[in-house]
Amino acid sequence: MAAVTRLFRSSASSSSAAAYFTRRSLTTAAATELRSQSCIPRIDPKGRNFQWVFLGCPGVGKGTYASRLSALLGVPHIATGDLVREELSSSGPLSKQLEEIVNQGKLVSDEIIINLLSKRLEMGETKGESGFILDGFPRTVRQAEILTEVTDIDLVVNLKLPENVLLEKCLGRRICSQCGKNFNVATIDVKGENGTRDISMAPLLPPPNCVSKLITRSDDTETIVKERLRIYNEKSQPVEDFYRSQGKLMEFDLPGGIPESWPKLLEALNLDENEDKQSAAA
Ligand code: ADP
Repeated sequence: MAAVTRLFRSSASSSSAAAYFTRRSLTTAAATELRSQSCIPRIDPKGRNFQWVFLGCPGVGKGTYASRLSALLGVPHIATGDLVREELSSSGPLSKQLEEIVNQGKLVSDEIIINLLSKRLEMGETKGESGFILDGFPRTVRQAEILTEVTDIDLVVNLKLPENVLLEKCLGRRICSQCGKNFNVATIDVKGENGTRDISMAPLLPPPNCVSKLITRSDDTETIVKERLRIYNEKSQPVEDFYRSQGKLMEFDLPGGIPESWPKLLEALNLDENEDKQSAAA
């Protein structure tokens, strides 16, 4: 992780391509196999590093599934949106600038985001973390190129839901201001049109002690969500193509809410929740 952190720093601060190209390879034989087969092999992950990326539109549930997998696999879930929000609430020198960008649904500059990510990786390094599940990064092809230059990504999971469901999910999103957990008050029952599938999702309601502490993200308004979706299609969808062409992209159409989707996602990843942490179906 140390090399990744250092190289991120030099990528953010220097335009010299030379700074990018001392890559740290953390791939194992299994990861190499994964790339060559472009499907998920049944592997025992003990002793290997997970360096995964979660892609998907705003509201698709990247944070929910990435954090569940992070707990299951024992690797950190690093969400750049959370890093941005932490910086925003810290009233540090960047917060005013970030507030304006985030509240317009725009993307923060690559330099700022890579600096925040580097700081987070450095912190993890001091705690002995290894591997990661990145959520919200990379979001532009440039960010994906920088990531490729500094380390190897084993797998990219692309979570998908129809766009009308995404909007409803963002508008129903609530966060407990005390424990930080995410909930959703929307009941989704969308009939498929023009070949799209029906989607039903029960709300994910908070426990009684969180109910009075729920807050809504300032960028989860209809206008800002629509702008974030527009920007995703423009800037982030090419990132899907970037990883697809490398054979690393696993597409996953969410079949519904967490109870239906989680077991199917584990199955697609060949992971078994009933085994110990760090263990997958062999
Ligand atoms: P979303 O629900 O839209 O996926 P996130 O929580 O991931 O939102 O991010 C919130 C905001 O933080 C984004 O709208 C953007 O302004 C900023 N942000 C997060 N990650 C990145 C990134 N990799 N590059 C640029 N901006 C980012």
